[in-house]
Amino acid sequence: MKPAYIDIHSHQKISHPHQGIQSFNAQDLLSDIEFPEVFSLGLHPWNISNTDIKKALPILDSLSDNPQLVAIGECGLDRAVSTNFETQKEVFISQLRIANNRNKAIIVHCVRAFSDILSILKEEKPSIPIIFHAYSGNADILQKLIKYNTYFSCGHDLFDERSKANRIINHIPLNRLFLETDDWNGSIEDIYDIASKKIGKSLLELRHQIYYTYKSLIL
Ligand SMILES: [Zn+2]
Repeated sequence: MKPAYIDIHSHQKISHPHQGIQSFNAQDLLSDIEFPEVFSLGLHPWNISNTDIKKALPILDSLSDNPQLVAIGECGLDRAVSTNFETQKEVFISQLRIANNRNKAIIVHCVRAFSDILSILKEEKPSIPIIFHAYSGNADILQKLIKYNTYFSCGHDLFDERSKANRIINHIPLNRLFLETDDWNGSIEDIYDIASKKIGKSLLELRHQIYYTYKSLIL
């Protein structure tokens, strides 16, 4: 049987747990929505300024007891937004600790803050899988991050010849690679197709490897 095209991080509906992780944010957390069989939930740095953090973090902590919640996130650090960076760090570290305590993976959004993430990892020493979605760091940073239990996901940026994703994908070890649609409207199959061409592996090999990695971390 051919493995599914795992979509590690999507804001679209993912109905089957063997297809990947649908991501929800703080607004969903504070409303009463019904979550799918497999999902992730977190406070995105873009939402911090319009969320009641003191209320949201304990709810996230108690929801993370739920076995359907397989990862915390997306959460992280973003130097391109105006939200106070120290606040971003506090909220990220709180979520990292929740993930580590509950033994869940964490899905990280990081924009121009990789050295901050590295210091946090050095300090916190989390043992859980850390998945960088839409990874935009360079090869040097990748080498430093890879010493931790880290994974790196690429998405539709692969269609842009000059994107960071295109420059980095061949540096990512195959057993640390994920693919994602994120908030893109296209299909995950198309992302697998272009990724397989970029890294020179067959589509089937890529599907098998990512499915294997996903199963070993998540299912
Ligand atoms: Zn996202």
